[in-house]
Amino acid sequence: MAKETSWAKPVSKALRAAGVRVSAIETAATPGFKGDKKAGERLLAERTAVLSDLQERLYANGRHGETRSVLLVLQGMDTAGKGGIVRHVIGSVDPQGVQLAAFGVPTPEEKKHHFLWRIRKQLPRGGRIGVFDRSHYEDVLVVRVHDLVPPEVWGKRYDEINKFERKLVDDGTVIVKVAMFVSLDEQKKRLMQRLERPDKYWKYSVNDVTERGYWPAYQEAYQAMLDRTDTDYAPWHVLPCDHKWYARLAVTELLIDALGGLKLEWPPATFDIEEQKRLLAKA
Ligand code: ADP
Repeated sequence: MAKETSWAKPVSKALRAAGVRVSAIETAATPGFKGDKKAGERLLAERTAVLSDLQERLYANGRHGETRSVLLVLQGMDTAGKGGIVRHVIGSVDPQGVQLAAFGVPTPEEKKHHFLWRIRKQLPRGGRIGVFDRSHYEDVLVVRVHDLVPPEVWGKRYDEINKFERKLVDDGTVIVKVAMFVSLDEQKKRLMQRLERPDKYWKYSVNDVTERGYWPAYQEAYQAMLDRTDTDYAPWHVLPCDHKWYARLAVTELLIDALGGLKLEWPPATFDIEEQKRLLAKA
């Protein structure tokens, strides 16, 4: 099978966050994968079909009372490719079974509540794949870097997040956390491309340039996030994203692992099949 021949080790092991120094991440690496871009793209086409089948099983079971779900948390630097993952990986499965939520600057209403309030409202129902494009982790990243709340407030959030995720997992959600990294050079290239192509202007934000100046502070915040919220029940995966084909393939594999772990069969018929065949033949 292609999987065995192309991956030197399982992707979840290759991307393990434990012990990773954010400042030393090789963003152009393709951890665990032995092939080149062509091999990666060929494999992605195959694996997408597997993911799609597993997701349909989850959704089918959801229609029959399945309470478990999968939550993909995408957190990353600007231009790391969160949108590409949503479009290409999540876009390849049946949208009925997906609950997508993007988290931007909190609205005035959201600001009145605890930081997890808006997150809770977007958690996937049973049988669904939830996708967070940014997440509760913004509340220990941008918030920490820009002093949006005092340190004693954001400082407590790591434990709050761990407790929150523990409960989610206990209630049947498999959490797949992916921290996406590009090099500052690659980021510059991608931002410049947005300025050169009319079809990309909409993705450009004037803040992107100033945010680059905060990269050392972001590195520190990402490091603290990985150090303090990488748990055995909801581990972080550190994803190098200079190669988009690799990032997409790796997230596809992580989702296949998560869904495969649920050991889902197709839900059995809740009616007498032979009787229905007879009735249908006569109808
Ligand atoms: P994107 O940049 O992902 O395309 P947006 O243009 O909506 O999406 O930008 C999201 C912005 O919202 C980012 O700058 C992010 O840092 C910010 N943001 C997200 N969550 C929070 C938060 N809890 N507090 C402050 N800013 C936040």
